[in-house]
Order: sequence, then C-alpha cells, then structure tokens
Amino acid sequence: MPATKALDPAVDALSERLGADRLERAAPLAPHTTFKIGGPADLMYRALTQDELAAAVRAARELEIPFFLLGLGANILVGDGGFRGLVIKNDVDTIEWLDDTRVRAGSGVKIYHDLIQMTVARGLGGLQHYVGIPSTVGGAVWQNLHFLSPPPERERTMFIEEVVEGATIVTEEGEIRRVDNAYFEFGYDYSVLHVRPDVVLDVTFRLEPTPREVMRDTIRENLAWRDDRHPDLWLYPSAGSIFQKIEGVGAGRLIDQCGLKGHVLGSAQIFHKHANIIVNLGGATSADVRALIELAQTTVQRELGYELKTEIGMVGEF
Ligand SMILES: Cc1cc2nc3c(=O)[nH]c(=O)nc-3n(C[C@H](O)[C@H](O)[C@H](O)COP(=O)(O)OP(=O)(O)OC[C@H]3O[C@@H](n4cnc5c(N)ncnc54)[C@H](O)[C@@H]3O)c2cc1C
Repeated sequence: MPATKALDPAVDALSERLGADRLERAAPLAPHTTFKIGGPADLMYRALTQDELAAAVRAARELEIPFFLLGLGANILVGDGGFRGLVIKNDVDTIEWLDDTRVRAGSGVKIYHDLIQMTVARGLGGLQHYVGIPSTVGGAVWQNLHFLSPPPERERTMFIEEVVEGATIVTEEGEIRRVDNAYFEFGYDYSVLHVRPDVVLDVTFRLEPTPREVMRDTIRENLAWRDDRHPDLWLYPSAGSIFQKIEGVGAGRLIDQCGLKGHVLGSAQIFHKHANIIVNLGGATSADVRALIELAQTTVQRELGYELKTEIGMVGEF
C-alpha cells in the first residue's frame, strides 16, 4: 500500500489547515537538492511566509505527520525511496532592515545572491566570506556555515555564528520564541538544532561597516578559490564535503592517499579535484553515493586507521 494511503486521515486534516491546493502529492525531491538525487515526498508544502512556515510545522506536529524542513537541500542526501510524510520547503524570503547595521532575514532567504548582494551594496561586511556556498539562512544556522578567512592568511575558519545576533524559532511545543546567539551553542558543523527540533523562522545578523572594495576583493578571491577546487554545481551536482573535518589531516587527503580520487561507482564519482566531495555524473542514485561513502570509509579505516564520519544529513528511505 502506498505510504500516502496510511496517512490519509491526517492528510485530510492537514489539507484543511494548509489548503488542499497547496499540498503537492508524490513530489519529486531530487530537483530540490543540489545533488539532484532522491525519490518523492508523500507530500510537499512550500511555505512562503513565516506564518505559513510556523503553521505547517505546528500542523504536522499536532497531526503527528513526520516532517522534514528543506532549505536549498545543499547538505543532504535524499534516499531513492523518498520521504514518508511531509516535506516543508522553506521559501520564506523576507528581508527587513532593523537599523544601520542589523538585518532580519527570513530563514528561507538565500545567503548567496540575495543577502550577500544586498549587504555588500550597503557597505556592510560579515556575510561576503560565504559567497558561492548554496545555503538558506536556516540551513546556515543549522550547520554553522563556515569558510576560511580571506587571503593572504586563509588560516582562520570564519563562522556564520560571528554575525548572528539572534533568531525567532518555533519550539517543539509550538511556541514562537526570540532567542539569542548563545541559544544555538554553535560549534564546528554544529548548532543545538542538531539535537533540538526547533525550526528557525528568521535570523537577525549584526554586520560591520566595511569598505566595498575590500568585500569585493574577498568575493573575487573566494569565488576563484571555489572555482579551482570545487565542482561547478551545474556540471557536477554535489552536496559539498561529505565527511567531517579531521583536524590537521583532512578527510579528502586520506581518501586521496588511498587512491580513491576519481573513483566511479554507478553514476557517482569521488570528485577528481577534491576527494571529500562526491559528484553526480548524471542519473546517480542515492545507492551509488552510499556505496562510494562506504568504500571510502572502509578503505581509509583499513589502510590508514582513521574513521570517516559523514557530515551530510541522510533523509528518507534508502
Ligand atoms: C558546492 C557546495 C559547497 C559547499 N561549501 C560549503 C562551505 O564552504 N562551508 C560550509 O559550511 N558548507 C558548505 N556546503 C554545505 C551547505 O552549503 C551548507 O551546509 C548549507 O548551510 C546548507 O543549507 P541548506 O539551506 O541547503 O540546508 P538543507 O540542506 O536544506 O538542510 C540542512 C539541514 O538544516 C535543517 N534546516 C534547514 N533550514 C532550517 C530551519 N529554518 N530551521 C531548522 N532547521 C533547518 C534541515 O532540516 C536539514 O537538517 C557546500 C555545499 C555545496 C553543494
């Protein structure tokens, strides 16, 4: 029996609350991920405003329908079996200036393009380091988006937490709360959202007046850096780094040392320029990607004694 059948009574109630015409059934998820991989969601709802996002989260919780909140899908691998339940696609794209240096962005705002362009144009720095990284505001807070400090040092890792002043969230109990930076307990590739099922509705960023030319230099340098090392998403869909950082060693270097750079399984490849990235060569399945992940993990463990842990989220049925 299709999983949507089992959900039907709850789906009827959900349709009433969110609007039947707004719920898409058997919605393909692959186009909504940067990997371009993954089966359908039983149901998909695109939240366009913060009220809609909060209402969808509350409705799913109250009706006990499993849900997944989807940003740009740049840090996940969706299983070929898709997702049983409701995928809430976050398209909340409001941007509001609170004063000269503080901006409040809806959690579905794309950092690259929308927010960076707007803040650089106003002469405000802090977000330009993350140019070229596909991310919504919510996804950035979830993972504490990071990148290397500008050249010539390129030594320090910069984190989005450095410019987050606070946020509005919906808690597990459905309460809407304003929280400050400390609430998120930010760490490397970590925020409290990994263990608390809050949903971020908006984030307030506090930025620094910075000469536009300095920011434009950073943007140019960072885009060139990415161009050299990272796959172009149009040619090689991917989810960025697959494995967590191993301090002082580098997961990619270990995989490379084992001779796996460029290795192909099915239609997925360990990227030939950067071994911590797996790319979709066209028509790859989640099974192809999982097989490459397992191959890298077992080979590196056997030959070099390091344990590779995945950084990306596994979503749905594999
Ligand atoms: C080519 C490429 C390069 C990359 N380079 C980098 C890099 O340099 N640095 C870096 O840090 N990352 C990098 N990444 C990874 C990715 O861009 C980030 O992790 C990004 O923040 C993911 O955002 P998203 O909106 O796509 O989140 P999604 O992948 O859609 O979701 C990721 C997780 O966040 C949760 N989530 C999303 N929105 C919310 C919300 N509003 N409230 C609560 N939870 C939420 C989701 O439920 C999910 O669990 C790269 C990815 C790619 C494809």
